[in-house]
Amino acid sequence: MPRLPKSLERLINELSRLPGIGPKTAQRLAFYLLKKDSIDINNLAVSISQVQSGITFCSVCHNMTETDPCSVCSDVHRDHTILCVVEEPLDALALDKTAFKGLFHVLGGVLNPLEGIGPQDLKIDSLLERIRSSSIQEVIVATNPSLEGETTSMHLAKLLKEFPDVKVTRIARGLPMGGDLEYADDITLTRALEGRREY
Ligand code: ZN
Repeated sequence: MPRLPKSLERLINELSRLPGIGPKTAQRLAFYLLKKDSIDINNLAVSISQVQSGITFCSVCHNMTETDPCSVCSDVHRDHTILCVVEEPLDALALDKTAFKGLFHVLGGVLNPLEGIGPQDLKIDSLLERIRSSSIQEVIVATNPSLEGETTSMHLAKLLKEFPDVKVTRIARGLPMGGDLEYADDITLTRALEGRREY
């Protein structure tokens, strides 16, 4: 039985380890890349190899950045009294397309006991520390409207009682349950932000 060339086999293996890519898709992608004129393979290879070395995480908000602190945290024209807590960097990116010009805090996920993800796995301690040592007056909890997102939001609301002077709000429903902030359009996100309510 003919075997695939080693290099091709290795590429298929690597591609199939990416999320959402099964063996069939990995094969199709690998054969596509094999066709020399299909894509600028050098550009692709360089982009992939640089993505980790060029990008770091902001030590303040934990968002992806090429400089630390990131451009949002170091922007004096933004409102440093209002902080929006999100699950992932892409959520911050989506919200930043709205009129919201406060700061962000990226948790790096949500509480998920079934998958063993507890408070210590998220950037929660650093959130509390950040609020303690800053002039933040409002925290908007903008985790996704999923079961895990709601659980995380309730957990944060409880912890944030430590700061009686800080207004703690939750973005409005209007986002579909189980929906994902990063895929919501600007209008829906703006409405969700404007309709936020105190816990
Ligand atoms: Zn930052």
